[in-house]
Formats: sequence, C-alpha cells, structure tokens
Amino acid sequence: MADNNRKVRVRFAPSPTGALHIGGVRTALYNYLFARQHGGDFILRIEDTDSQRFVPGAENYIIESLKWCGIHTDEGVEQGGPHAPYRQSERKEIYLQYAKQLVQSGNAYYAFDTAEQLDALRKQAEAEGKTFAYDHTVRRQLQTSLALTQQEVDERIARGDNWVIRFMMPEDEDVQMDDIIRGHIVINTKTLDDKVLYKSADQLPTYHLANIVDDHLMEITHVIRGEEWLPSLPLHYLLYRAFGWQRPEFAHLPLLLKPQGQGKLSKRDGDKFGFPVFPLQWDAPDGSSAMGYRESGYLPEAFINMLALLGWNPGTEQEIFSMDELINAFSLDKVSKSGARFNPDKAKWFNAQYIRMADDQRLAQLVQPIYAQRGISVTIDRAAQAIALIKERATFPVDLVDLTQKLFVRPADYDEKSVAKFWKADNVARLAELRQLLEADSITDPAAAEARVHEWIKSKDYSMGQLMNTLRIAIWGVSQGPSIFHIISFIGKEEALARIDVAAASLGQGA
Ligand code: GLU
Repeated sequence: MADNNRKVRVRFAPSPTGALHIGGVRTALYNYLFARQHGGDFILRIEDTDSQRFVPGAENYIIESLKWCGIHTDEGVEQGGPHAPYRQSERKEIYLQYAKQLVQSGNAYYAFDTAEQLDALRKQAEAEGKTFAYDHTVRRQLQTSLALTQQEVDERIARGDNWVIRFMMPEDEDVQMDDIIRGHIVINTKTLDDKVLYKSADQLPTYHLANIVDDHLMEITHVIRGEEWLPSLPLHYLLYRAFGWQRPEFAHLPLLLKPQGQGKLSKRDGDKFGFPVFPLQWDAPDGSSAMGYRESGYLPEAFINMLALLGWNPGTEQEIFSMDELINAFSLDKVSKSGARFNPDKAKWFNAQYIRMADDQRLAQLVQPIYAQRGISVTIDRAAQAIALIKERATFPVDLVDLTQKLFVRPADYDEKSVAKFWKADNVARLAELRQLLEADSITDPAAAEARVHEWIKSKDYSMGQLMNTLRIAIWGVSQGPSIFHIISFIGKEEALARIDVAAASLGQGA
C-alpha cells in the first residue's frame, strides 16, 4: 500500500500512436483532478518505446489537447522537471540495469530464441490445436539462460546474438491485488506467460519494464489508468515485489461504451453517427482526418464537464461543474466499475448550457471568423450585443451566427409559409400605417416602443397577431424570431423602415 505521508504524484502516460481518444482525455482529467484535490503533482510522461507504433505529430497533439482542455501539467515533456527526461526514448540507458538486476535476483532470464524459432513453435502448437505461450512449461526447454550454461550464455551475448530478458512468472501463485475502484482481485499466475522486459535488438525496454521503472523513479503514488491495463496488473505487482519497491496504489477506470449496443466507443462510431471521438481535429500522416470537439464548436468547459461525468457520479443532482468544482467534488470512490455509455445528445446539451453561461464578448471573439467567412463585417462589441439577444437558442457557435446574421444583413428571402399566412391586403395596408408611427417614434428603448405600438394597435382595434407578424416578415423574413422591438432597436430605425419598404416592393400589396 502506498504510504499516506507521501506527496500525491500521478501521471498520464500515453503512447504517441495516433490521436488521443476521449477515453484518454478522461484518464488525464481524472489524474489531474485527483492531483489538484490532494495538492499533488500531475506529470505527463510519453511512453514511446514501441518504435513500430510511433506516429509523428501524436505527441504534439496530446500536448495541445491537454492545453485546450485546461488540464495543466506540473512536470513533463514540455516543461521538464526534477525527473527529466519525461520521454522514454530519451531514458533508454536507464532500463537495462534494472532488467539485469531482475536476472541476478532470479526473477528474469535471458532468451535467445529467434523470431523464426518462435514462429515455428507457434505454428506447431496451432497444428495441434493449441496456442503457444512462452511460460513455465517451456522456459527450461528453449534457448534461455535457464537451459544453457553460463558459459554458453556469455558466449552468445559476446558474439552479438540477439537476446531478450523475460520475466520469470511464478508457476502457481495467487497474486493478491487491490484496486481503488474494483476492490480486491486475485489472479493465479498459472495462465500468465513470461513477458519480454527488454530487447537487445533495439536496446529498448518493453512497456511493462519502462512503465514500472519510471513510476518508481518518478515517485508515482497512484496509477490511474484505463481498464485495458487491468490484465497487466499481476505482472506489475510481481515486478514491484521483485524489485523490492514500494508499490503505488492502482485505480482502473471503466471503459467508454458506444452510444448504443455493445462495446467500446470507437472512431468508427463517431464517423457513423457524426460526433467527434477526439478532442481536436486529427490530420493523420497518412492523409486521413478525423473531426475534433474543438473544431466542431464545443467549448472546452462543456467538453470537460461532459467527460467528467462519464464514469464518475457526484452522488447529487448537480450536472454543471466548473473545473474548480470538479477538483473539489471528484473522488475515485464514486467512479463506477461498469462501462460508461457515451451520449452524443448529452454532449450537445452541455455545450448549449455553457454557451448560455459564456461571456458575450468571448463568444463574439469565437465566432468573428464565421461572420468574416460570410462576408459580414462586424465589431466584437456589436456581435456581443447581438449574441446576447439569442444565445439561449444556440447549441454551437455557428448557431450564434445563423441566429444573428439578419441583424447585420437584410433577409435574403421571405418565408413562404409566413407570407401565405400573414401577407394579406388588410395587413399590408395597416403595416403602412404602422410604418408612419415607427418613423415618428424614437425606438431607443425597445420595451417602451413595444408598449406604445401595442397601445396604438389596440386603439385602432386591429388584430395584434396579424399585424405584428406582418411587421416581422418585413423586418426578419419570417414570422418567428427574437423580440421584434429588440431587433428594430438593434438595427436602427432607418434600417427598419428600409426593410419595410423593401418587403413591400418585393412582396407586393398582398391578396
Ligand atoms: N503507455 C500506456 C498507454 O498508452 C500507459 C498505461 C499506464 O498508464 O500504465 O496507455
């Protein structure tokens, strides 16, 4: 058990093999929340010892993603720290001595089998309807330091034969493990194989060795990671024991499940249902591209809030959490064991809530490029005022532009249904009268103008609904929309009168 007096230190340890899936972001988030809550450190370590799976650009993508999410690292590849370097490929020299230490203490051995020999063994087992496993049943028959003499081993190493160091898994032992989320777990070693820890061919450790050595050297107190690493836990426990090191505590997080049906949330689900499974757009080296939450118009706070609740339950009805509130409320005890189903509609709901809460100026900055793309030139202040009128109805930033566009540009056309319903001779004649009234009004205060117009309509005994909807068609192109007096006061009286004239010219006097 980790000793409670140690300063909490956790790490996010991704392998740069492609874009960071939102499940990975959630792992980083839970580590970050845990560290902040305990006044501890959050470390970003890049596990890039598998050169076959290395993808250029992936490390940078991970760093950018965490920044966008507001997940700050205390130590890591970017800023360095007391345990630098934080990229495993730059720590190469560290690992061999530890692998050798395990050989010396009788916990590991050299194996010289070539790829061809192992392949032949696999095929032979297959032909017999079995699966080959490199384990206690074969380790003394194969090309290993357990079967060869010390002299043979030394000679082979000296002449440059390739070798690996394998962990010597106990033959029949119940490994007793504890997981903060899953509780006590017992696994017998009978079915576990002798994992490779180090390979002379590329002078690199495998994940298991590098991960344990670095967690130890970096003084990690809690390992919080995805459920897919649970099968490695017995080996990791035994490695800590073999080294005689204090073990961190472990917490394995539940999988993120598809919106419907069985299985893990995958990139293909995102493509199929049209939602992102990556934080940022990912342009892969092979030319393919996958959409991201950022580019799809999600605010980072909404994305983080949504992710935090995928697998963790605060135990209350509260759904909206700022990062600080998450840091206070988060607890590994309330992380569920079972998979968390991803719900794209809920993600949208969170975004709409955060757009509502966001500062108008910030939203205006965010959508400025969209106005520009549409050829609408507008100052941030004007855009912010416009956005304030309609933001409760937006889910994405682009909606803010769609909903405010006509505050800056005259309607390009008139909604047919609205016209058929309200653009009638009586209404059009009354609109001409209303135009005169508006012309004489100052319309600086929308509520006061509205009251004056309503009073006038009543005094004339005109139908309020008929006339106001006719006015709305002229000004807004359709009989629904934000408060018409807010629109008029926003666009200004001159523009409002001009729109009435343009509508009359283009729609005629009504039937
Ligand atoms: N490099 C592993 C990964 O890509 C880290 C697993 C762990 O946190 O131990 O997920």
